[in-house]
Amino acid sequence: MSLFDWFANRRKAEPISKERQEREIADGLWSKCSECSVLTYTKDLRANQMVCLDCGHHLRIYSDERVRQLIDPGTWKLLDEALQPVDALKFRDRKSYSDRLREMQDRTGLSDAVQTGLGQLEGLPLGLGVMDFRFMGGSMGSVVGEKLTRLIERSTRERLPVVIVCASGGARMQEGMLSLMQMAKISGALERHRESRLLYVPVLTHPTTGGVTASFAMLGDVILAEPKVTIGFAGRRVVEQTLREKLPDEFQTSEYLLAHGFVDAIVPRTQLKRTLAQLIRLHQPYPPSHFVHVPDSLSRHAMNPDYVSETNSAS
Ligand SMILES: [Zn+2]
Repeated sequence: MSLFDWFANRRKAEPISKERQEREIADGLWSKCSECSVLTYTKDLRANQMVCLDCGHHLRIYSDERVRQLIDPGTWKLLDEALQPVDALKFRDRKSYSDRLREMQDRTGLSDAVQTGLGQLEGLPLGLGVMDFRFMGGSMGSVVGEKLTRLIERSTRERLPVVIVCASGGARMQEGMLSLMQMAKISGALERHRESRLLYVPVLTHPTTGGVTASFAMLGDVILAEPKVTIGFAGRRVVEQTLREKLPDEFQTSEYLLAHGFVDAIVPRTQLKRTLAQLIRLHQPYPPSHFVHVPDSLSRHAMNPDYVSETNSAS
């Protein structure tokens, strides 16, 4: 075959279809940055924790990937996997809520919009909850509320710090009032966790809005956020209409909230694990062996009424 024929044949051959291109992207060999549109080899992108190597944009990741990034291999133990949502109100919009749930479960392999579990982060044990935006926009219904509450209560009993990675459109409207009461329930569990002098760190990721912002996302001892995340309660348009004021462009971003004192630090994803480990180490509750050589009057044991009464009753 002459070179000319070869070119002629090639021209006749079907061009690589857009669909096939997209499939290759979806198959995961290549990933396209939604910010700068640069294509990156997915392996390289994953090695960089799905942060664009070109522009630093944080691509959206889901709960499994987040757990993989934060938890030491082989230490993750899921909690309450069997908890299933029910359609208590027989809610129906275009579809019935129970159909919607089944569809979401098939598509994501998750039972609801959060994964909770115990694991280790740089060798430090903790309770971790990770919301998953794929599942009905990470909306908070009874199961999300119950799983997080149980996670916090278990961590309180086992004296563990809690980290919750938030990503949510807010309360789940299909469960109405039952969704809204989760805000109070989780907040109550967090208060008992706090009373036990344990550390709680929410990590706000894109987007964190509605009832989640209005409850556990803002109740942290230290509140961390990823860069350029949308964080808010009501949407921008609603706020503008209510206040009858034009809002600044960067309104409801992590940078704006940091400047106004709602967020304590913006941590790039590539440094999140290290930062959490540092925070947990700083707040570790007095392992007695660390204070063996400290005089009683100066040690943190002496300042802790629980520990004092425990040693008193033992003696
Ligand atoms: Zn990019």
